[in-house]
Amino acid sequence: MANKIQAIRGMHDILPEQTPRWQAVEERLRAVLESYGYQEIRLPVVEKTELFRRSIGEVTDIVEKEMYTFEDRNGDSLTLRPEGTAGCLRACIEHGLLHNQVHRLWYMGAMFRHERPQKGRYRQFYQLGVETYGMPSPDIDAELILLTRRFWQRLGIGNKLELQVNSLGTGAERAAYRQILTNYLRSRFDRLDQDSQRRLETNPLRILDSKNLDMAPIIAEAPRLMDYLGDESKSHFQTLTEMLTDAGVEYSVNPCLVRGLDYYSKTVFEWVTDRLGAQGTVCAGGRYDGLVEQLGGRTASAIGFALGMERLISLTEESSLLDLNGAPDVYMIRVGVLAEQAGIGLAEQLRDALPNLKLLLHCGNGGFKSQFKRADKSGAEYALILGDDEMATGSASIKSLRTEGPQMTVSQTELSDYFQRILTAERG
Ligand code: ATP
Ligand code: MG
Repeated sequence: MANKIQAIRGMHDILPEQTPRWQAVEERLRAVLESYGYQEIRLPVVEKTELFRRSIGEVTDIVEKEMYTFEDRNGDSLTLRPEGTAGCLRACIEHGLLHNQVHRLWYMGAMFRHERPQKGRYRQFYQLGVETYGMPSPDIDAELILLTRRFWQRLGIGNKLELQVNSLGTGAERAAYRQILTNYLRSRFDRLDQDSQRRLETNPLRILDSKNLDMAPIIAEAPRLMDYLGDESKSHFQTLTEMLTDAGVEYSVNPCLVRGLDYYSKTVFEWVTDRLGAQGTVCAGGRYDGLVEQLGGRTASAIGFALGMERLISLTEESSLLDLNGAPDVYMIRVGVLAEQAGIGLAEQLRDALPNLKLLLHCGNGGFKSQFKRADKSGAEYALILGDDEMATGSASIKSLRTEGPQMTVSQTELSDYFQRILTAERG
């Protein structure tokens, strides 16, 4: 036997046992997005490497070490998207969607990062991304947070996530603060860990985000970006927090929340949980007003977020709000030549008449006993039985697989009415 080929490390399969949960979660997210008037956009998985270099920033974790970059046959450098914001913006600039327009968009799909795989951290993972364009005032910042809060409520995990917010100010404010922070950190250079020493020159703000506890005292005493914001940034942030308070959203201001990417300005936020170990950030986002111009468009406001689907799915595992019953309503058993021949047509007629009926047809041979075993294993509510006796009388037998009770005989012409009544009784 040839040896088995296995999946790439960090790239996982989502098996049929898990897909009902994924589908149920995705369906609820979509319903909430739709109710807020957000539209779907579908984007390529591969983009020119230059797009990510220019948007995410050269000195970020993603561009420094996490991208899947390769040359295609023409010698162009391409990259599997590590996130969706850049591609979405590229598409909207390319198709002229940003001129004096307002958009609320979402996409769902696979992202790729060459990270060290562990629970909640994969090399291929799924994100729901939301991006909005053309709205400079903080009401849209608040709307995104309210929308995400509604996600958690609909999924029954509202009590498991906490909101952290911060403001990163404008590019100019951040540049000035960066100098102040660098001076502070440089004067304590010997107490910085290796990672932070390296970041000091390239991305000092990221040091604030260090998970190393030895760094905590230095970080706690560091100058705060919030104290160096200009009036406009300050009032934007204040209005946002007032809106959140008015809407009854609990939040904390985390001055160390800087986000990994270069492109953020003003509002940043994260929804975090303590239930997933080290991988506690489920949803993260912020404003990136400067990025549109940086990618060759005219100045336009933008704010969005990305939600890690694997982490979200893990969180819903204890939630009883999700109805995950994917079992069929009916399993059709056919024994004998006549029944085998007639069964497929009968199944099709039932599907024509009852589009919501979930009917599993037994395929392949087998006697009553083995087909009943399969029927039971499928989780189906009823077995629909066609044998020689039934064929002789133009009827079918129906047996409940989940409750005790006599087997019923129903004329084949009345089967759809029969199941219609059952479906109505069960599902209302
Ligand atoms: P982290 O700090 O966990 O590395 P990040 O800041 O790199 O996250 P973002 O780029 O903001 O993450 O992506 C948004 C969300 O996507 C994260 O909050 C997380 O839920 C999810 N995510 C990011 N990277 C991964 C990954 N490698 N595997 C699974 N989910 C991920
Ligand atoms: Mg990361």
